[in-house]
Amino acid sequence: MEPKMKTTDIPSRNTVLLSEIFYSLQGEGPWAGLPAVFVRLSGCVEPLCPWCDTGYAWSGGEETGISRILETIRSLSSRRVVITGGEPFLQWETGLEELHRILASEAYEIQYETSGKVPVPSLSDALIVCSPKHIGGAWRFEETNLGAVDVFKFVAQGGSWFERIDEFIARYGIDRERVYIMPLGATREEQIRNMEPVFTYCRKRGYRMSPRLQILAFDTRRGI
Ligand code: SF4
Repeated sequence: MEPKMKTTDIPSRNTVLLSEIFYSLQGEGPWAGLPAVFVRLSGCVEPLCPWCDTGYAWSGGEETGISRILETIRSLSSRRVVITGGEPFLQWETGLEELHRILASEAYEIQYETSGKVPVPSLSDALIVCSPKHIGGAWRFEETNLGAVDVFKFVAQGGSWFERIDEFIARYGIDRERVYIMPLGATREEQIRNMEPVFTYCRKRGYRMSPRLQILAFDTRRGI
């Protein structure tokens, strides 16, 4: 077995703005139900989403060495890492790329959650899940990211939400096997209310339906 890279091998300039790091189950998308370590980076890009449930990660964050993040990940019993935000790819060149390189070299399964509002690198050793945002009458998505994204994940609650998703998918010719639809809902009650129309829509289009398990299980509680 290859020896693991020692934390002392990492140049000290490699830092990221970290919002939080914790072990949990992935609640949504292709890894729904799977245990993983979550690394949430701080910072997002405007326009911000009015329905965002991670507003605490829009700014601030603690400047944290990659070595410290790796130590925490290694101490937790999971071989999967979800890197999320905020918008994680804002920090690709200032520290995230190095974190990715080391995690991939240690054979971690890596998933990124991005809005696709900023450039996304093409990565053969990670799953890139993009959740495009429709804000102020337009999709806020960098078209150059199309080739880098593995799956698309949309939140919806019915009517015009479905029409906008149809338009996005038709515009870019996205294969329906790559599409996940989640019922909008920052609370358990709201998500349950939106499940029926989303189920019907997914059945009609042949998309995959994803729950948001963390909200179904814990409602609005954080840090679980
Ligand atoms: S892109 Fe994500 S983190 Fe940023 S405002 Fe929208 S939902 Fe929140």
